[in-house]
Amino acid sequence: MTHEKTATALLKIYSTLLDQYGNRGWWPADTPFETIIGAILAQNVSWSNARRAIENLKAAGLLDVQVLRDADPTEISRHIISSRYYNQKARRISAFMQFLYAEYGGDVDQMSGDDLPRLRLKLHSLKGFGEETVDSILLYACNVPVFVVDAYTKRIFSRYGFLEKDATYQEVQHFFTTHLPKEVPLYNDYHAQIVNLGHSICRTHPDCHLCPIRSIPPGIACEYAKNME
Ligand code: SF4
Repeated sequence: MTHEKTATALLKIYSTLLDQYGNRGWWPADTPFETIIGAILAQNVSWSNARRAIENLKAAGLLDVQVLRDADPTEISRHIISSRYYNQKARRISAFMQFLYAEYGGDVDQMSGDDLPRLRLKLHSLKGFGEETVDSILLYACNVPVFVVDAYTKRIFSRYGFLEKDATYQEVQHFFTTHLPKEVPLYNDYHAQIVNLGHSICRTHPDCHLCPIRSIPPGIACEYAKNME
């Protein structure tokens, strides 16, 4: 497929998902700071479990930059049990808080304004901050046009025929960023639509008969579904 055709197909897939499901309103958080803590808590768990942990932190008065910086990881962990790996995540939250104060005086806006390659390197240097967590923070908290890749992205777009099953994070990200306009609102909702489709329909055993992007006229169609016919 040519570059133009792929770019058109990706936009068509997105607009079809948008028509079907509406804007997903992601990331559901009151502040960029809450988004960052949510991105740590959401590692390797469902969003509903992460959200419960955020609500518990809020109820305990811990979702405040200064309060969370001063909180002991043991205290944090008591409130985030629903996020599983809660001791590990409590240590990651504490480490991030120390970093935020040391590098940016506790100011998320200041952090967001940092030079992108430098900020990305700094975030990656934090223990447990992998590609998806760092890019989620950059896109959803810092409003930087970075396409977030997750397991659903690889699964859906390899089934569709655009990517190899074993494509790396960088290869998948490069595929999207070279074919889509570099726009925060588009990247924001596109990733959210992918998560929704992967969670509800394009699962390990996909419900292709329910999939809104199975076939999009004129001539855009999922290879996996075609092979199952
Ligand atoms: S048609 Fe099936 S395999 Fe293809 S994206 Fe939809 S659910 Fe996934």
